[in-house]
Amino acid sequence: MNQMFCFQCQETAGNKGCTLNGVCGKTAALANMQDLLIYVTKGLSEVTTKLRFEGRNILPEVNHYITLNLFTTITNANFDDEVSIKE
Ligand code: SF4
Repeated sequence: MNQMFCFQCQETAGNKGCTLNGVCGKTAALANMQDLLIYVTKGLSEVTTKLRFEGRNILPEVNHYITLNLFTTITNANFDDEVSIKE
């Protein structure tokens, strides 16, 4: 079984996906944390989108978390498990 699967960028192993460690140095643990972060962020975005359609206001802090979570996973630019813990 693969420890991770990441095909975020053009450096991906064999043009298919990094499955043990990232060509970029990303670890399997970090890739899995990023997958979870994106999964949760998609759920949060689904809720905030529906609330906006209902005319409800979304707290700026919530919007900021969505942006921050996406930025945290930017390929080869900002991956660091310590970043996720500090924010
Ligand atoms: S971001 Fe890193 S782990 Fe992901 S595909 Fe690119 S090189 Fe591989």
